[in-house]
Amino acid sequence: MAQARDGAPRRVAMVSVHTSPLEEPGTGDAGGMNVYVVQTATRLARSGVEVDVFTRATDRGLPPEVELAPGVTVKHVVAGPYAGLTKDDLPGQLCAFSAGLLREEARHEAGYYDLVHTHYWLSGQAGALAAERWNVPLVHSMHTLAKVKNAALAAGDRPEPALRVHGEESVVHTADALIANTRAEARDLVRLYAAEPAHVDVIPPGVDLQRFHPEPDGRNAARRALGLPAACDVVLFVGRLQPLKAPDVLLRAAADLVERHPHRRERLVVAVLGGPSGTGLDRPDDLQKLAGELGIGDLVRFVGPVGQASLADWYRAADLVAVPSHNESFGLVALEAQACGTPVVAARVGGLRTAVQDGLTGLLVDGHQPRDWARALEAMLATPRARDRMASAAVAHAQGFSWDATVAATLDLYGRVQRPRLLRPRAVRPLAAALTAGASGA
Ligand code: UDP
Repeated sequence: MAQARDGAPRRVAMVSVHTSPLEEPGTGDAGGMNVYVVQTATRLARSGVEVDVFTRATDRGLPPEVELAPGVTVKHVVAGPYAGLTKDDLPGQLCAFSAGLLREEARHEAGYYDLVHTHYWLSGQAGALAAERWNVPLVHSMHTLAKVKNAALAAGDRPEPALRVHGEESVVHTADALIANTRAEARDLVRLYAAEPAHVDVIPPGVDLQRFHPEPDGRNAARRALGLPAACDVVLFVGRLQPLKAPDVLLRAAADLVERHPHRRERLVVAVLGGPSGTGLDRPDDLQKLAGELGIGDLVRFVGPVGQASLADWYRAADLVAVPSHNESFGLVALEAQACGTPVVAARVGGLRTAVQDGLTGLLVDGHQPRDWARALEAMLATPRARDRMASAAVAHAQGFSWDATVAATLDLYGRVQRPRLLRPRAVRPLAAALTAGASGA
């Protein structure tokens, strides 16, 4: 491992309670946050910072620790029954998780960790307690904000519970620093959660440019590799299948498109990658049923979750990638597609407004009316030359987002919160107080 730079922590306790960086993203709770943790932890380690990632053990057979990469160890914390818990059940296991986290540190000499970096509010609750006990700074990344999500719910989707909102508020007021993906997220943190503007750093996520890049003759080669016809129009959706991601909007738009432009039916392939997740798990067959009801069952391929290693071929094979989400704090899929040279049609929401340059690297669509989406898809499919221009611009745009830059900015932030430690009055934290009681009794 490299020597840590001056001012950087020697060892960071990274916390990701509800999803392990060892899981393949694309289904269940594993998505962009897993990619984020893997990419940043491995690069932090390459910069000389040792990283232990604490996550809840979800299987009795898991070893207590697994080396993810040199300098990055995943530590499985036993907290509650291994299987059968959903994310909504996890607040009830935070005492046990926090106790496990503290117990692990207690095996070492005092001052073992220099900093705690937590991902998502559940981790923030456990990490806040650890940071306070160890007297080290707490850096927190929200990843998504319940208040923003609840304001943009798909029709009939379940709102995020009040407990999560309170949990997020408490972490916002406890953390020494918050990382926001975009300026818009930073504004939301200040406006909706009363975060101190000085405590919010905007650090965009990145894209693995070694994995996601264009190839000469990439579209044809990828189609051959995937068994897709050379002469077809491929519209691709990649993401965890849940109402928030609005794959139904894409299906309705595809049905509208072939109704209004019947010649498209001959050539159109809608490929849907990803598995059920979140409230999408309640009715995992809904999308297949919807495609049948819309009369486009023959045009839609439900591929299931695809490993990161094979994804680049899918992006290269596509004429465009659709990201119709009701909300996205960033939208790594949009960035990955562009890095492979595929323009993106995305909803004009959240981080997608940063990830996609409207009219240059793709199109941003207002709202979720299938007719508007059909128009945007047709505009792209009907203009291959404009699409090729967008493809080049998309590659250049994506190259502006590298995980190395994310980690350099994160290291800079770690250095600032460490020296001198930003001392803040600790906010009243009912949840964390409850956790303290649980942990000391454990
Ligand atoms: N992903 C994947 N396989 C799939 C579907 C998605 O590896 O079948 C990955 C995708 O490459 C991306 C992440 O899951 O890196 C999704 O991140 P994004 O920010 O788009 O959405 P999130 O999951 O954070 O809501």
